[in-house]
Amino acid sequence: MRLNNGPPALVVALLAGILLPAALSAGDRQPQCGLAVTGAQIQPQEDFGGKHITARGTLRILIVFASFPDDETPHPFWSAHQPPDSMRQFIDPDTLTRSTGPFNLTHYFREMSLGQFGLIGDVLWVESARPVSEYSSSGSYGRANSDLIKDRLDSRVDFSQYDQWSRLGDYSTLNVPDGIVDMMVIVWRTTIYGYLGEASLGYKPAIPVDGKRIEMGFPESFVVSQGSGVTCEYPYGDDPKGVMRTMAHELGHWLLGGPHPYSRQLAGKHQYWGILCAGERLSSCVNAYERERLGWITVPEIDPDRDISLGDFVRTGAALKYHPANGDPFEYFYIENHQKLSLFDDATRNPDDRGVWILHQQLPYLELDNLRIRPSDGNWKWENEGAGPACFGQDLPVFRRGVPRIMTGESHRDQIPTQSSSVNWMYAFKTDTGSVRCGTFLGGESFAGAYDTATVAVFSPSSNPGSNTWNNQPTSFSLEVVRMSEGVATVRYALNPLHASPARRYLGIDPSDAGLLPGPLHLAWGAQWSEGQPLETDVTTSLLQRKIGDGAWEAAYQGGATRWVDQTGQYDSTGSTMIAFRARVHDSQGKISTWSNVLFARASILSGIAEETGNVPSSAGLENCYPNPFNASTIIGFRVARDVLPNAGTDTRNMDPGTQHVKLCVYDLLGREVAVLVDGQSEPGGHTVRFDGTGLASGVYLYRLQSGRHIETKTFLLLH
Ligand SMILES: [Zn+2]
Repeated sequence: MRLNNGPPALVVALLAGILLPAALSAGDRQPQCGLAVTGAQIQPQEDFGGKHITARGTLRILIVFASFPDDETPHPFWSAHQPPDSMRQFIDPDTLTRSTGPFNLTHYFREMSLGQFGLIGDVLWVESARPVSEYSSSGSYGRANSDLIKDRLDSRVDFSQYDQWSRLGDYSTLNVPDGIVDMMVIVWRTTIYGYLGEASLGYKPAIPVDGKRIEMGFPESFVVSQGSGVTCEYPYGDDPKGVMRTMAHELGHWLLGGPHPYSRQLAGKHQYWGILCAGERLSSCVNAYERERLGWITVPEIDPDRDISLGDFVRTGAALKYHPANGDPFEYFYIENHQKLSLFDDATRNPDDRGVWILHQQLPYLELDNLRIRPSDGNWKWENEGAGPACFGQDLPVFRRGVPRIMTGESHRDQIPTQSSSVNWMYAFKTDTGSVRCGTFLGGESFAGAYDTATVAVFSPSSNPGSNTWNNQPTSFSLEVVRMSEGVATVRYALNPLHASPARRYLGIDPSDAGLLPGPLHLAWGAQWSEGQPLETDVTTSLLQRKIGDGAWEAAYQGGATRWVDQTGQYDSTGSTMIAFRARVHDSQGKISTWSNVLFARASILSGIAEETGNVPSSAGLENCYPNPFNASTIIGFRVARDVLPNAGTDTRNMDPGTQHVKLCVYDLLGREVAVLVDGQSEPGGHTVRFDGTGLASGVYLYRLQSGRHIETKTFLLLH
């Protein structure tokens, strides 16, 4: 199976440039695994283990690094006419060496199989007898491999030592020789067919060697029923870890079969994660479904109503599954705890993305998008705002999270449609306060809380994402992360969803009152955002908190309602004061939800207020205080201008506006300073500060802002 299902070219380049130190130089060299397999569904209950090679015991293979005599192109890890750097680190010669390197196949499969599969072998470099120009036509890698075996390998290699297993049929192998070489990997230094890898040696006639036979095809091909190897390329821009993952992918087809279940470019919503992770090969970390299919773990169905401890999934193999009775026959939610203890546990690159992951598997292994990660930060209507500031030196589409779409929306792990493309990876993201972050959602860098159990302590019929079936039928599945202690998660499945903690609320502008700004702020949280989700009928109390400027969170509302009108001031999009809100709810069992998202709104304290945008002002300024006149205390708003750093580059992460020195003082009418409210560096944007006039005489006072070169003075009246 050629690796052929890469993401759009732009993103390959993006990921390669950012995530792999010297990876693919452009999107024109995608992994390819071309043969579509449209066979019957695999029945996981009956078929465990490796499909075409053993997944247990010891399998000794041969890795051949091959170069052409006329290939002089510079390669950072493989000099011309030499073996590649660190060649012997790609695989251990025996099961005792136990290498722990980042691109060692023995290490990789030992960790993924929990020690049950010993993939060992020998490594060899040879130069082809013939130039690359002989193989420039399409499909010629089979001929190049055949020639290499006949011209160079047969005389040097005793192939009889690579036949230890018999393939009796699918999922059936025996540890005795059958006259066919078990497995070899040929890795070319340059491209001969434009792809990174292919699960066969090329569908040429079998080659007799040392009393054995090398079969060239992949067993699921109609051409031959057996085979002896895979082909990989080690492109000039690639690194050892990248080519090792290509090898793992191609060997993965022999273990798991032909389809690419997590990588099809159809209709979005798919993940690049698992042994058969394709495309940019972001992560080859095994998932629970693959592990169970290969017979490396047994995943128990989760018991309801009891606490269950889950250690790190990759290291211990601990996982749970839940089958929705009204779902597809092989549909499961898998629960894994990722503590990133393994080098290969890198489906996201953010080391803080630790916690419980929920995988939603629709069907057995088919050529479909049938695995979704259900991230804790929910499904949304993602709004594509067009190209934004350049990220990574390119103009990329910018997405902004709109309202929740619990059932039909996308998560940031999905491909998302834009105006220009039916599917698109999200790699520039506008935050709730308006700043653009460059990142890759695959990398998990710019989406704090994606896997944070503090963000979503419960996954339930009413949470976002909800525990619906793949076809959006409601289930009662309510998984609660009861606690996380020293890397061990304690989870609990409540048979009655109301017994679990309440779901996290979404807090937004009340849809029925949208468009009323400027004026008071109409807030709503919970039910009206639920898009047909079942409601939690046991919620009793809501708590809404507010934070003005850099102040502390304070209670704004507590009661049984899920709507509230904030009259702190006038809200409008140009207000200088940023006011933040958040909400949580209690239920009748005394359980409390995690905090909602934080809603930001701009307010002009005296005359106007808000909306949820947050452009940093271009100029500094002083607001009228509120209230005025005042008794004892009043709030003063002021703006600090953006001061773009002179060295700002195209990466917006370096374009954070600098701070400004700000001084805000109060004077009496004789010009005497009576209070210093602010004196120091301040972030650009709107701020507020509270002035307490206790102890001062009633009367008129001046307050004066100095921010950079901007100086402004206003008056207020203190009345005791
Ligand atoms: Zn493939």
